[in-house]
Amino acid sequence: DSVFGNIVRAPEDPILGVTVAYNKDPSPTKLNLGVGAYRTEEGKPLVLNVVRRAEQLIVNDRSRVKEYLPIIGLTDFNKLSAKLIFGTDSPAIQENRVTTVQCLSGTGSLRVGAEFLARHYHQRLIYIPQPTWGNHPKIFTVAGLSVKTYRYYDPKTRGLNFQGLLEDLSSAPSGAIVLLHACAHNPTGVDPTIEQWKQIRQLMRSKGLLPFFDSAYQGFASGSLDADAQPVRMFVADGGECLAAQSYAKNMGLYGERVGALSIVCKTEDVASRVESQLKLVIRPMYSSPPIHGASIVATILKDKDMYNEWTVELKAMADRIISMRQQLFDALRARGTPGDWSHIIKQIGMFTFTGLNTEQVAFMTKEYHIYMTSDGRISMAGLSSRTVPLLADAIHAAAT
Ligand code: PLP
Repeated sequence: DSVFGNIVRAPEDPILGVTVAYNKDPSPTKLNLGVGAYRTEEGKPLVLNVVRRAEQLIVNDRSRVKEYLPIIGLTDFNKLSAKLIFGTDSPAIQENRVTTVQCLSGTGSLRVGAEFLARHYHQRLIYIPQPTWGNHPKIFTVAGLSVKTYRYYDPKTRGLNFQGLLEDLSSAPSGAIVLLHACAHNPTGVDPTIEQWKQIRQLMRSKGLLPFFDSAYQGFASGSLDADAQPVRMFVADGGECLAAQSYAKNMGLYGERVGALSIVCKTEDVASRVESQLKLVIRPMYSSPPIHGASIVATILKDKDMYNEWTVELKAMADRIISMRQQLFDALRARGTPGDWSHIIKQIGMFTFTGLNTEQVAFMTKEYHIYMTSDGRISMAGLSSRTVPLLADAIHAAAT
């Protein structure tokens, strides 16, 4: 008899479970729009040319060794990551009041930040948008924070519920942490305008709410790294404190390398260095130190002007392809006369479209058309191509009529 005999089977992860179901489907026309990973026009995963180039340099450099990194990771990587999100001329960086630690992609950065806050911050309450990425409530709960939601998406307009957002943040207790998607909100594709961000910033600062930015799509929303970082930079520019979790999974296509960074912007250099000393105590018993390869790729690219430029061109091409898929899908639905207003497909931003299709319609499309997506009706635009848009449009048309 197994000592684990009484263990109950856990449910499949709702997002990764879509891929499990997809893999089991023998249909030759099956389409996976569940997972948020970029695909080429041919439906293949993409390794950026600049990443291949950086890897070659790393492999050919005999002086590179496989020693352990420090607890907080690669120094160059951390410095360059902070500059990428906060801007090259950020006063907070120049004043040495930012601490940045290399973590295991966006998820690990969120987790280390959450763990630090649960141990050292006076308010253990975090507000996350409704809806949000499914892993957010789990990451913060398991770290020991209590999770509440603020209104974000309005199903009626398929846009931002700005009034609801302001009301909910207004009634949050002073000091509460607020999780903000830096850009390309997942799963809705709905972002506040810059004007709305200004109001959110004002409200949060007046109430002493602590911003925790999740930046998983910098450059993927607009195609511009600087434009997508604008909301974060706005909060840093006022001199206030905040946290930011960065991921290089999407914008450098380094998904499985697990490269990311957590930055904490503090009031003074002295506070930042004490915060960093405590971050080390969080990280050491979790995984000792982060992996070296992915961070070396990122640092190699960010350090070199020519490679950096090459990256921005490749990044823009990915963003542009996604934007063009939005237009093609919208046009295809219009051509079919599919009932309903589908303009949100071209208005939404980033990797995902929140179609507004309900659970039954999603189940119908999977059963009849072998199209896989999460049951909330979210589709990954990056998984579409000119060839598959008509299939999806046919399926949506059938589900909506
Ligand atoms: N945050 C959001 C909103 C995401 O959508 C994702 C990935 O899907 C992540 C964070 C973290 O991803 P990773 O841990 O692969 O960097």
